[in-house]
Amino acid sequence: MLNEYKKRREILVEEYLKGRGIVNPHLLDAFLEVPREEFVLEKHKEMAYLDMALPIGYGATISQPFVVAKMCESLEVNRNSIVLDIGTGSGYQAAILSRVTKKVVSIERVSKLVNSAKETIKKLGYENIKIVHGDGFEGYKEEAPYDAIISGARVRDIPKAWKEQIKSGGTIVYPEIMGGYEKIAITKRVEGGFKKSYSFGVVFVPLKKGVV
Ligand code: SAH
Repeated sequence: MLNEYKKRREILVEEYLKGRGIVNPHLLDAFLEVPREEFVLEKHKEMAYLDMALPIGYGATISQPFVVAKMCESLEVNRNSIVLDIGTGSGYQAAILSRVTKKVVSIERVSKLVNSAKETIKKLGYENIKIVHGDGFEGYKEEAPYDAIISGARVRDIPKAWKEQIKSGGTIVYPEIMGGYEKIAITKRVEGGFKKSYSFGVVFVPLKKGVV
């Protein structure tokens, strides 16, 4: 089965990622390395390499691989970057980012998801990921400023804390909802303010206030 998953990862990278315009070689290697089957529910392991979001309990989903790839590519990070990942969920996106950056700080509001993500990450031996139980609306100022911030949950507007915690020249990538429609927004901190552009349409769960 292990070899079967490896083969499926290769197909995912070729067909769904490279085949749809993802070019960053380090990121493509990360998708070849990280076993997505470890981040999904037991009953969904067979579906781990379909390019789709899957429920992981508590109203959360593991995002679609292509969307994770596209969002991560938009962050323009490198091996020296420190990234804040909002909405740990399964921990998959944090795991992918940890392979191409120096450190990932990932924050999740649901304590049960924090625990299971921590377990998965520990099992895989990825040491440059810190998972925190907290409210992503507040960011995580203990490790700020960040080279990049990415959110796996949708917002109407960028929370103030994210703007305060991103470095100059850094990029914030998140799903933005506007009038019943949702798009990936890419906001760069430039001299004197922020510059926003939009990418493609998506469907994400909302960023909710408070912790449980
Ligand atoms: N990146 C995740 C996808 C997570 S889905 C993955 O790769 O699996 C979005 C996650 O955001 C859910 O786990 C949800 O519980 C979490 N979330 C929602 N509101 C939040 C908040 N205010 N702070 C932190 N996490 C939040």
